[in-house]
Amino acid sequence: MTSERSYGPGDLVAVNLPLPVNGPYDYRVPDGLRLEDGDLVRVPLSGRWVSGAVWGPARGGIDPARLRRVASRHHLPPLSAELRGFLDWVAGYTMSRPGAVLRMTMSVPEALDPPRPMAAVALAADPPPDLRWTEARRRVRDLLSDGVPRGMAETARVAAVSPGVVRGLRDAGALVGVDAAPRPPPARPDPGRPGPRLSEAQASGADALRRAVGNGYACTLLDGVPGSGKTEVYFEAVAETLRRGRRVLVLLPEIALSVQWLERFGRRFGGPPAIWHSGLGRAARRDTWRDVALGRAPVVVGARSALFLPFPELGLIVVDEEHDASYKQEDGVIYQARDMAVARAYRERIPIVLASATPSLETVVNADAGRYARRCLPDRHGGAAMPAVEVVDLRADRPPRDQWLSARLRDALETTLAAGEQAMLFLNRRGYAPLTLCRACGHRLQCPNCTAWLVEHRLVGRLQCHHCGFAQPLPDACPACGAVDGLAACGPGVERLSEEAARWFPDARQALATSDSLPTARAVADLVERLERREADLLIGTQIVAKGHHFPHLTLVGVIDADLGLAGGDLRAAERTFQMLYQVAGRAGRATRPGRVVVQTAIPDHPVMTALVHADRDGFLAAEADARRSAGMPPFGRLAALIVSGSDAARVDAQARALARAAPRHPRLTVLGPAPAPLALLRGRHRRRLLVRGDRDIPVQRLIRHWLSEAETVAGVRVQVDIDPHGFL
Ligand code: ADP
Ligand code: ZN
Repeated sequence: MTSERSYGPGDLVAVNLPLPVNGPYDYRVPDGLRLEDGDLVRVPLSGRWVSGAVWGPARGGIDPARLRRVASRHHLPPLSAELRGFLDWVAGYTMSRPGAVLRMTMSVPEALDPPRPMAAVALAADPPPDLRWTEARRRVRDLLSDGVPRGMAETARVAAVSPGVVRGLRDAGALVGVDAAPRPPPARPDPGRPGPRLSEAQASGADALRRAVGNGYACTLLDGVPGSGKTEVYFEAVAETLRRGRRVLVLLPEIALSVQWLERFGRRFGGPPAIWHSGLGRAARRDTWRDVALGRAPVVVGARSALFLPFPELGLIVVDEEHDASYKQEDGVIYQARDMAVARAYRERIPIVLASATPSLETVVNADAGRYARRCLPDRHGGAAMPAVEVVDLRADRPPRDQWLSARLRDALETTLAAGEQAMLFLNRRGYAPLTLCRACGHRLQCPNCTAWLVEHRLVGRLQCHHCGFAQPLPDACPACGAVDGLAACGPGVERLSEEAARWFPDARQALATSDSLPTARAVADLVERLERREADLLIGTQIVAKGHHFPHLTLVGVIDADLGLAGGDLRAAERTFQMLYQVAGRAGRATRPGRVVVQTAIPDHPVMTALVHADRDGFLAAEADARRSAGMPPFGRLAALIVSGSDAARVDAQARALARAAPRHPRLTVLGPAPAPLALLRGRHRRRLLVRGDRDIPVQRLIRHWLSEAETVAGVRVQVDIDPHGFL
């Protein structure tokens, strides 16, 4: 345990500020204030006030006489030594500024001070008898006659009167001011409620996880097919942590959409967890942040950013769907939340559970090497069998022109729908068509800001760029040659697939599931309910349907284009594709009826396809591990990317070449590039990439830091470091 230092009047302290500055600034502790490490304080900075955290004694280097004073301390517990150490470590690992990392913790400045009690008004018990009740005043009276106090502004808005009317009534004594009821304290999940009866394998997994609670750092991979009960098992560790009075953090991908997860949590613990994700409104963010900082939120479930919340006494971290790509943050501080979660658990000396049906290769290698414990749940709960997977060779069973359903898949759909069961078609492409081209001149409609085609979204009648959000109406004429009515949609998106399915199966009631058609958690929940109530027969969706949802009546899954994710140079293309298809396949046959999965591919011999057919996940991972090992690629080697970007292509190229000239020479490190980044133009910025590959034990960050300090810098160009790059960007 790092012992916390405290500081009194006249002492000099370093204050880490959540700003893109190079390090903490020194300040003087004023008379009458006592501070300790981690305290959240307000300080002056170039003419304004900012809040930061005390980060040890002053660093020195500035004449103490010139140091400014700390203004005040926020009335919140200090950031713990464990959290501060973690944030420093993240900054070093990701090569980010300490303040940029601190800002991920101090993400809600308005939460640092207690909310002001809201002045509300209610009807006076005895209004002045001589008051003139105008039409507007009567509306206010009618609104408040239910006895519920409301804020002045809200009263005016809802009654559709000017604020002056409300004020006038108050001044006349017809309304009285009251303090609005304070927000009720957050729910306390009850660990004492009984969970479901666990199967033998579940019970032994739960036991192991429970025993780990309170015993320091330990990382456990909870490995089990979809539906095997991983959630129920880690809920037991959650319960144990709550019994010990400590807090729990559960990371989920796409938290905003995990309605089923929240319902299950509520059933198990009798109350909701606190929720944290980027889609929260201001008030919810402020309240939840304060609840966490004050230790009033026993369980937080959130997206990757929840990892940086200021928990006092964290007791357990769970990373569900640990393989999920959304754990990688690609802008600002570039980090992998699953990896950082392990680092936080280590520093907090608490257990962490990584759960997945398709664990990442990194995690499997760590488990095989004994660095992580491993708990397997071999069967689906209730004994349902995993569905049989069959491959359709699209070269032999080719759909007609501009259609995408093979004869075999159509047959399977026919049979399933005729039996009154549900089917799902999976195509990981939003919109109607991924490409629009001119039949007269061959021109392809491209985003003006990105190296990307514009995607037609026919339901809203627009072309959209999926990278920068650029959108325009579909033009009548080709913008290049002017030919009218010559623009043709190429390739399928889910909207187009839905059209084709409707032609073959006009009676099937369809449901479309994409991030466009399901913008909110409520919309997802409604869709899931519709399927549970059997009000839809055919679900057509993107990866949004692959994640965690249970559809009890679904017995057929058709994968339209299994090869989509395999193109491109991504190191993890095969692994990602396998994970996604396996998860999608896992949606079929969850209850009593067996499931069937039809996978359309033009490369049926690809290891991903054969592994799916033979249900040989571990064989696939072993082959993938061999390939990575012999190429010296992660997790056996280290990878980092330097992304050079700017609006002026010539400058960007000059900077990239300067970096290449200064590249470190080290026998066990290779620098590749510069080359155009896969998205060579993104949001109007030109992008080049240098890739660094080194042996596992090489201090990559140190070498890169030195490299960047040596290379010439070109003005107007940004160089970002991505340690452990994942994506296509
Ligand atoms: P996974 O997380 O592995 O996909 P879940 O924990 O979501 O699996 O479980 C799948 C379904 O089976 C859920 O509806 C869950 O409530 C149910 N289930 C799992 N284990 C049990 C159990 N022991 N008793 C009753 N229902 C269970
Ligand atoms: Zn774009």
